[in-house]
Amino acid sequence: RVNRSDFMHALDEVHPAFGVSEEELQSVIQNGIIRFDNIVDELLRSGSLIVEQVRTSTRAPVVNVLLHGPPGTGKTALAAAIAQASQFPFIKLITPDNMVGMGETQKISAISKVFSDSYKSPLSVVVVDNIERLIDWSPMGARFSNPVLQALLVLIGRRPPKDRRLLVIATTSNRPILTDLGFAEFNAVMRVPPITSLSALEYVIQEVDLFPHEEDRRDAVRMLRDAGFDKKTRDDPSSRLQIGIKKLLSIIEMARQEPDAVAERLTTALMELDL
Ligand code: ATP
Ligand code: MG
Repeated sequence: RVNRSDFMHALDEVHPAFGVSEEELQSVIQNGIIRFDNIVDELLRSGSLIVEQVRTSTRAPVVNVLLHGPPGTGKTALAAAIAQASQFPFIKLITPDNMVGMGETQKISAISKVFSDSYKSPLSVVVVDNIERLIDWSPMGARFSNPVLQALLVLIGRRPPKDRRLLVIATTSNRPILTDLGFAEFNAVMRVPPITSLSALEYVIQEVDLFPHEEDRRDAVRMLRDAGFDKKTRDDPSSRLQIGIKKLLSIIEMARQEPDAVAERLTTALMELDL
């Protein structure tokens, strides 16, 4: 009889043969995961439930999840965080950032290789990042690489071999076109929202220590409130504040460069966003 620890031990042994690229995962979660809103915990929790489903279900050897949301909301980092937390022996990222300069054929073989490598591991996660960029989607004339699209559709939907289980986490900033192109069959779809509340923004600036003195932080928040960034509800379309965590972090780093006018720089940069 094989017990859980035997199983985990077996996984450890499998580990080096395939390689989970920790650096690769870490590089897309560079700034960590800041829990600025309950939604962040909810997304991570949904992710871990799906991971458990893949780990334990004998009925569904492949589970496909889609993370979608506006640009810069943290989709890639969340996908990588969910993948990393699974501790599955095979975790790979398919990202357009690693395919710069590749032609269609090269792309297709790189993508296919990740999937066929994943079939060697009992449990795998493949992150298919930024699908619209992988297929070179261009809104101008609605062009894209059909061969890459067809390869992805086949690979994402394919049942892995016997006794192999695979979680595919796809990301996109353009969910409508994905549906048009035939990606209809995701088992779960999760929306990653932008930051829309001042309290979430305040949480982020506190977390990254933008203001060493609490008083300065309070003043900055007051300044932002006076500037109209004061909607309370999460993901409110009428909120003046609409910013992805990625952009917010870059604005914060820019503001930090000017120690005498951090709050002003922050406010101005946020105001310029909604022009
Ligand atoms: P794009 O639309 O350009 O592909 P994206 O939505 O994939 O962007 P990421 O590339 O994941 O966004 O950038 C998010 C950045 O914010 C990462 O550096 C990540 O470490 C950081 N981050 C901090 N907190 C969070 C969070 N709660 N969720 C996601 N990312 C976070
Ligand atoms: Mg991304």
